[in-house]
Amino acid sequence: MPNTLEGTRFHAYGPRHLDAIARRYGLPADVRESMRRVSLVLPFRVNDYVLDNLVDWRSVPDDPIFQLTFPQPGMLSTEDERRLGSVTGAALREVVADIRGGLNPHPSAQWSNVPVQGGAAVPGLQHKYRETVLYFPRQGQTCHAYCAYCFRWAQFIGDPELRFAAPDPSGLVSYLHAHPEVHDVLVTGGDPMVMSAERLRDHLVPLLSVDTVRTIRVGTKSVAYWPQRFTTDDDADEVCRLFEDVVASGRQLAVMAHFSHPRELGTDVARHALRRIRATGAVVYCQAPLIAHVNDDAAVVGELWRSELSAGAVPYYLFVARDTGPHGYFKVPLARAVDIFRTAYRTAPGLARTVRGPVMSAAAGKVIVDGVEDGHFQLRMAQARDPALVGRPFRARYSATAAWLDELDLAPTTPPDLAAACRGTESAP
Ligand code: SF4
Repeated sequence: MPNTLEGTRFHAYGPRHLDAIARRYGLPADVRESMRRVSLVLPFRVNDYVLDNLVDWRSVPDDPIFQLTFPQPGMLSTEDERRLGSVTGAALREVVADIRGGLNPHPSAQWSNVPVQGGAAVPGLQHKYRETVLYFPRQGQTCHAYCAYCFRWAQFIGDPELRFAAPDPSGLVSYLHAHPEVHDVLVTGGDPMVMSAERLRDHLVPLLSVDTVRTIRVGTKSVAYWPQRFTTDDDADEVCRLFEDVVASGRQLAVMAHFSHPRELGTDVARHALRRIRATGAVVYCQAPLIAHVNDDAAVVGELWRSELSAGAVPYYLFVARDTGPHGYFKVPLARAVDIFRTAYRTAPGLARTVRGPVMSAAAGKVIVDGVEDGHFQLRMAQARDPALVGRPFRARYSATAAWLDELDLAPTTPPDLAAACRGTESAP
């Protein structure tokens, strides 16, 4: 595969290009038809960089980047695929809406995290953990390509009812002034780096007027899917200047980079992008979920962390796939996830052992599966809506198949507040 493409202009392909892509790369007719049906329900987006530099077409359909970015047979049930193939027009729209409704479009009770100020919900914000607010700028609610497992897939299907989006930062700034306990703003999406440097500046600079904000995080997969954003895009230099300005304001700028597979760090342009980001003074933290068909292999995960470390980035979280969208296709049972994490961790250099996981970002908080002992999962609440729960260990009966918190049988000794949080029956802190 080619290993450069610096200077190429960004061009996205969506569901209507699937046939042309399939012809270009010789995909069989049944795979093409299945992709078409799945893409009626779940978002699909890819670009030339991903197609030409990341997917290894000799290994398709098993290739991890092909699995990561393309709709796959098996992501929907056979019955749902059949329904999609049997109707058209208004009936098809109804079937699509019905299937989407059954795919848990907003996992972990995300709508309950939308804060209220002056009696009204603040659009495009989530405030779950005391010190951190999530901010969804409206113009940043797409990505340079879409991950087939995306836990925010509902952001991309054109339904305003299901979308988090702030028109501008005024609501956020007002909220931050009223909540000095918030030190950390995570700008997220979608991917904020799809915005022009000018637009991104409009969203970020007002935050610098709030003294209590100490860290600005930018959640992005652009280094993996479109590293040219930091190298040869027309406004790449302006992006870097903006990052420098945030750092110069005395804040920490944390680029929360999403890497799913070590191949994403293997191109010259991706490494160049990381060097440019780091030269601004920003710190790059890396996170990704453990995903069947993509990276559910200790050797791959270990290599991912080593690649991140050697690029000067900090391995941060290995997540458990969230219970949304095509979860049945991508999920990795917790027992296996622990095993993969531990095996990879043992081979990781000391400086890469900053990584934490496997971790479920659940409604109650971030629950880490620390291991298995005496027929139980050892669990720990690494982050929680209720600060009193943070750091506390608890246990659940071992299961070879459970893949999410709500499938676990908590030990009878679990303290009532932790049990209530895990079951979603706790009262507000
Ligand atoms: S980069 Fe993030 S938000 Fe975008 S498709 Fe992937 S998981 Fe979803």
